[in-house]
Amino acid sequence: MAEVLPSTPVEFLKGVGPKRSDALVSELGIRTCMDLLLHLPFRYEDRSQFHRIADIQSEHTAVQMLGVITQAKEVRGARGSRLIAVFDDGESTLELQWFRGAQWILRNLPVQKEVVIYGKPNLYKGKWNIAHPEVELLAHYETRKGDGLHPVYSSTEKLGRHGLHSQGLAKLIRNVAAEIAPALTETLPERVLREMKLVGRADALRKVHQPATPAEAEQAQTRLRFEELFLLQLTLLQHKKTVTQDLPGVRFEEVGEAFNAFYHERLPFELTDAQKRVLREIRSDLNTGWHMNRLLQGDVGSGKTVVALLTALLAKDNGYQAAIMAPTEILAQQHLEGLREMLGPMDVRVELLTGSVKGATRKTILEDLKAGDIDILVGTHALIEPTVVFDRLGLAVIDEQHRFGVAQRAKLWKKAKVAPHILVMTATPIPRTLAMTAYGDLDASILDELPPGRKPIQTVHRTDAARLGVFQFLEDQIAEGRQIYLVYPLIEESATLDHKDLMDGYESIVRRFPPPQYQVAIVHGRMKPEDKTWEMDRFAKGQAQILVATTVIEVGVNVPNASVMVIESAERFGLSQLHQLRGRVGRGASQSYCILMSSSDLGNDARRRLETMCRTNDGFEIAEVDMELRGPGDVMGTQQSGVPDLKVADLVRDRPLLTSARYLAQSVLEDDPDLGRPEHDALREALETALKARSNWVRIS
Ligand code: ADP
Ligand code: MG
Repeated sequence: MAEVLPSTPVEFLKGVGPKRSDALVSELGIRTCMDLLLHLPFRYEDRSQFHRIADIQSEHTAVQMLGVITQAKEVRGARGSRLIAVFDDGESTLELQWFRGAQWILRNLPVQKEVVIYGKPNLYKGKWNIAHPEVELLAHYETRKGDGLHPVYSSTEKLGRHGLHSQGLAKLIRNVAAEIAPALTETLPERVLREMKLVGRADALRKVHQPATPAEAEQAQTRLRFEELFLLQLTLLQHKKTVTQDLPGVRFEEVGEAFNAFYHERLPFELTDAQKRVLREIRSDLNTGWHMNRLLQGDVGSGKTVVALLTALLAKDNGYQAAIMAPTEILAQQHLEGLREMLGPMDVRVELLTGSVKGATRKTILEDLKAGDIDILVGTHALIEPTVVFDRLGLAVIDEQHRFGVAQRAKLWKKAKVAPHILVMTATPIPRTLAMTAYGDLDASILDELPPGRKPIQTVHRTDAARLGVFQFLEDQIAEGRQIYLVYPLIEESATLDHKDLMDGYESIVRRFPPPQYQVAIVHGRMKPEDKTWEMDRFAKGQAQILVATTVIEVGVNVPNASVMVIESAERFGLSQLHQLRGRVGRGASQSYCILMSSSDLGNDARRRLETMCRTNDGFEIAEVDMELRGPGDVMGTQQSGVPDLKVADLVRDRPLLTSARYLAQSVLEDDPDLGRPEHDALREALETALKARSNWVRIS
């Protein structure tokens, strides 16, 4: 057999062949020997000692025992069939149980033969049992390396059928590691290795599969996770450079008439320190002669609009137009009204362009835009249509970025000879680690301070048993002149049931708060648009004290007098949705409240969500918990996930490593922007290989 190299396809390995290699590709994406080495164990088992049944203690997380399975039978029950077997270690017995795959396991279970079993002991009615233990013939066990830590690999049923369950993989990987690991070159620069105190690459790849101690396993894992994150950051930072420094940007050098007049005469409040800092960050970008690509994150109410407006005025002062894009017509309309109100009589022309602006109005707007007579054009994605032609587009502000992809941004760039500066604003805070990866090619600014005078919203969790008390509280609030939102969940799959809940809830609220003293408005998805508007209006004008609704109010209403948000079946909402809903109150001067209603029977995740909401109003903190609970993919949404494809690192677990990786990648690139120096040869090569394997690294952002 020829020499085995990292790039050798697994098919050519001794004992693999086409069938197994097909299974490796389709099940785990493993094509080459290097892929195989990078299939890291997800845990290690200490197999250095054997236990006796009589010695099992409750602190044992797993035990290994030697004995015989004396009998096994399938037991059919209400919830399907189980397999129950008796294991005898010569002194005493315990029960083994399988809740899945009973028939298959029964056929394959070695009864009356010496076996080694391994699993987590559970105490039930005073007796130990083990569910889903690993069972291995003693004869097989002895052919494996005996002591130390045993790596456990994720595998699948199909691979198992080809003999590549965890132990089969272990053997294969161990052989490959022995062949190729010693010859592997170091990829990370000296300085990085030193600063992070990392073990060498060859060492790590060998030891990660065969560690002598838990500490050795940990060091090896850390090194490999860091390497992956470091390569990712290098890719993102290089990409960022191509879309900023390598793209000439228009220069906004002047702070002129429009900016100054607005700032000194129209601005009705002092900017917060955070707003001032962010404006400084933006202004320094605009003056470099490069293209700005900046992400502005700020919680609901943190004052992003005025930052966008001031930036647009800078564009005007330098002879350029600005576009502001929102994800929905309602939001675009609100931006238009908000901007016009703030600008008042100033000589700045703001227009609206959405899908529903038609006919003569549309024609005029398009003509004036092209002639350069419109300063700020607000709209939806209608703005990126080819018929929309600017005279001199210098800035594009994109509100709620998660609905706009990189391709759509690129269409904006094409609307001007020189790419316009881009300011992306999001109201759903993104965990820092995600911001550094999914938006790794953007510079980030954060508005982490709310305008003064807002009282933090008080949030409490109440179970259905406390409903009478909650209603009394609502009555008191109404007596003080406040208004109340009452929100019900609406999930597509159970829409009919949810609708019934909503209507039942509405009826019971009306019984408790009857007319004519009280008015209860209702809004839900099955109503005609004009009825919705009418009901919404009653609430907005203060004629109705309570608005019962499904999540429709998430986007679009602003009623500062509403100070109580009651969320029914709150356990069914996700964290970011709960946070968004809560953001509907707390907009006026009075103390606001959020009441999370749920049943008393909650799962762990639901409990954690509600606890988090009660503990903090900080959107960034909430986003971090959300990511821990759901994983980065779901936090970003499926639509345009933007979560990098990672093999060994994990954005939640490896947060601190990621931060160091970004910092060190930045500093390496400062010294050697193209990684052209000879000492970076191996790094450059590793980067190319990684890019081929993780094709989404350059497409994200
Ligand atoms: P968001 O970041 O959610 O888009 P907005 O820009 O809509 O927030 O601002 C929310 C409210 O706070 C608006 O009514 C705005 O006028 C007000 N606001 C913004 N900045 C300040 C400030 N520095 N001081 C006082 N009020 C402010
Ligand atoms: Mg906003």
